[in-house]
Amino acid sequence: MSTLLPVAGSGVSTLPTVNDAKAPAPHPKTLAPRRKTRQIRLGDVLIGGGAPIPVQSMTKTETTDVEATLWQIRDMIMAGCEVVRVTANTLEAADVFDRLVAGSSVPVVADVHFDYRNAIRAMEKGVTGLRLNPGNIGARWKVEEVTRMAKDKGIPIRIGVNAGSLEKDLLKKHGGPTPEAMVESAFRHIEILESLAFFETKVSLKASNVPMMVEAYRLFSKRSDYPLHLGVTEAGSQFAGSIKSAMGLAVLLSEGIGDTIRVSLATDPVEEVRVGREILKGLGLREDGVTVIACPTCGRLEVDMLPMVDRVEKHLANVKIPLQVAIMGCSVNGPGEAREADIGFAAGKDMGMIYKNGEPFRRIGGLNMLDEFIREIDLLVAEKEKGIPTPAATEEG
Ligand code: SF4
Repeated sequence: MSTLLPVAGSGVSTLPTVNDAKAPAPHPKTLAPRRKTRQIRLGDVLIGGGAPIPVQSMTKTETTDVEATLWQIRDMIMAGCEVVRVTANTLEAADVFDRLVAGSSVPVVADVHFDYRNAIRAMEKGVTGLRLNPGNIGARWKVEEVTRMAKDKGIPIRIGVNAGSLEKDLLKKHGGPTPEAMVESAFRHIEILESLAFFETKVSLKASNVPMMVEAYRLFSKRSDYPLHLGVTEAGSQFAGSIKSAMGLAVLLSEGIGDTIRVSLATDPVEEVRVGREILKGLGLREDGVTVIACPTCGRLEVDMLPMVDRVEKHLANVKIPLQVAIMGCSVNGPGEAREADIGFAAGKDMGMIYKNGEPFRRIGGLNMLDEFIREIDLLVAEKEKGIPTPAATEEG
């Protein structure tokens, strides 16, 4: 067994899980109330029923390269990933899920297309959850066999509909991939699961076309209270994909739809996790983790600010407590914005002011200004993690 990562349930993990988030962020009044959904349990992560919205992502390594996969899982978890999905594309891949589950401190979901036997094998190996693509898993009896075993083992199933791989008869009936066809595909499989008294189900209705996926989720939400996994599939490059994902997810989340999210990008899954978390934070649906606020810069800029922002963001990537950090590029308008954050820096030429909890805290200067600011952020993080009240403001010349 790999010792690369803390073992789930061993009590030795120091990595946070979604349920460590103190409490769901107060629901922003500008968003519609969250849709009341059934709650399912994926390992120790609750999904639906008002639970905090977990961020998921998927590994991009060869599953059978267990070491590489576990390292990628570790990186994803460090970025804030709360559920990890791994392809069980072959029996050999399904065979290593015992090692993946043992090496991950968050639930591991096996992604299964085409061959139901891979789902069976992954369950034999102790996988936490399954994703089945109803468009290509095949005959009813195969789904039934998977469902019976999942019920016996208490393993939840995501019915993962994808507009790009709908059943042929539904494409014919609806004249192509449509929101209605996607919803019908989902209900066809829900019916199979429910016929076996299986209700530990969540559903996704992904498309690369944002209006189509939005409509599919809306239609489904009117008819069912199963929890929903949101995503825009094959969203594209980091730039375009982040925008498309933010649009689709924000529309639905603002309508109260969505119980877990995954951002799909043609890049490192760590970026998917970071974008997913930013979407939730931007909407006020999660408060844990650092939000770095930076001014857009303008002609008044007095320092080389963008590398500073980059360094602070990277430095704080693994901090899980809620914290607002502001970096402003001049001493004219910077102070006003820097005051609004838990800790802010109005960076002037050769000299700048740190603001803490809305008050001027320390004037810093010289080549090591940024090092000093980062040191103050680290102290504040340590104080907040220990629950120590922050010291009174002092000012250095
Ligand atoms: Fe420009 Fe200063 Fe505002 Fe940044 S804080 S955008 S540098 S005026």
